[in-house]
Amino acid sequence: MRSGEGADVVLRGATVLDPAAGIEGVHDVVIRDGRIAGLEAPGAAEVGGLEEIEACGLHAFPAFFDPHVHLRTPGHEHKEDIETGARSAAAGGFCGILAMANTDPSVSTPADVEALREAAREAACVPVGFLATVSRGMEGEELTEMGAIRDAGAIGFSDDGLPIRSARLLRRALQYQRLCGGTIALHEEDPDLSGDGVMHEGPVSAALGLAGIPSVSESTMIARDAALAGYEEGQIHVQHLSATESVEVVRAAKAAGVRISCEASPHHLCLTDEELRSLDPRRFKMNPPLRAEADRQALIEGLRDGTIECIATDHAPHAAEEKEVPFEQAAMGVTGLETAFAALHTDLVLTGVIELGLLVERLAGGAAPFDLPRPTLAPGSEANVALCDLSAEWTVGEEGYESRSQNSWCAGRKLTGRVLITVAGGQVAYRLRSFSLGVAA
Ligand SMILES: [Zn+2]
Ligand SMILES: [Zn+2]
Repeated sequence: MRSGEGADVVLRGATVLDPAAGIEGVHDVVIRDGRIAGLEAPGAAEVGGLEEIEACGLHAFPAFFDPHVHLRTPGHEHKEDIETGARSAAAGGFCGILAMANTDPSVSTPADVEALREAAREAACVPVGFLATVSRGMEGEELTEMGAIRDAGAIGFSDDGLPIRSARLLRRALQYQRLCGGTIALHEEDPDLSGDGVMHEGPVSAALGLAGIPSVSESTMIARDAALAGYEEGQIHVQHLSATESVEVVRAAKAAGVRISCEASPHHLCLTDEELRSLDPRRFKMNPPLRAEADRQALIEGLRDGTIECIATDHAPHAAEEKEVPFEQAAMGVTGLETAFAALHTDLVLTGVIELGLLVERLAGGAAPFDLPRPTLAPGSEANVALCDLSAEWTVGEEGYESRSQNSWCAGRKLTGRVLITVAGGQVAYRLRSFSLGVAA
């Protein structure tokens, strides 16, 4: 993250909610020199030297952490780069993100990691962590120099975009992990079962005559990798869970004592394969694909019972020309950083499916699987705060995007709930323009 001045702000009379820290109530949130200095009675905080922000009726949450983002640098900066990706994260209330390594070329050496960390120090308005690939060049053949890559500052390892086809290779990676640490994040898919599928395999794919990707393509690989992690006593994180069978496999592995964590994406929690009837690849083509309603319900149950500890956007920017083509040829992936909170608030909280507190916990839950500190509003901690207006209505894309790409799965949707200010790593990283006008400086 860019170095800058620590925030000196008081959020007057905000409704503060941080369930993981046992904090719930109306407070003046005092942020001094980038740290939470105190949660005081409304109106009681001394304002000397602090910017005062009227936050009565607004909500202050611990800012969110996204462990699964594609920043497209190096190689495809016309889709996204560190600066625009970080800005997109800040606009969504995120105070930290982890960037995937399937760039062009991939992040496979210590020098690659060092170069990206240096670039983030120049350009990013929120802290950005980097994963490196498990296999050299993502070819699935040889391991990268995991120890040296960790020394260079990589948070963990992932070949995301592709599964690790070879069980032998993953086993070796888990053995090296014992020496150098670093969670291994896994895109779980059996390429032989996925074949040339472009959507979930089920009645909708049959009706549309499109090749399907069966749920077992994901769940059988998770079962294999959970067994390997258990055998080698390694630590794995399963990315973008999409299917009922997958939730069941992770739940069973956890019960058996395997060190396994997992994430679900907002689009899998909000949408089903019924959307594919529109044949709109810009919003609805991604991998893993949107699945059936029963799968969506299983993911929600996983969120509730803690099988799924975090929400991750799998923010995947693509250029228009990769999306404005026939469905079968279009690139996989959607953007999601700017809409994650608002979409889940609209679709799951306002409808009574899950509680607001659970959503906040899961959106901030992506740091722990990578052994990073959880964002919190507890006094004394670094300030990482998302100030939100839960009643604000807005139409996604109407005012453009902070991201360089436009393939938002929420494009054109009216959402309720908006991030007004994000404090990340102790600095003010984002202010909604229209909101700033009303703020006394
Ligand atoms: Zn993936
Ligand atoms: Zn991904």
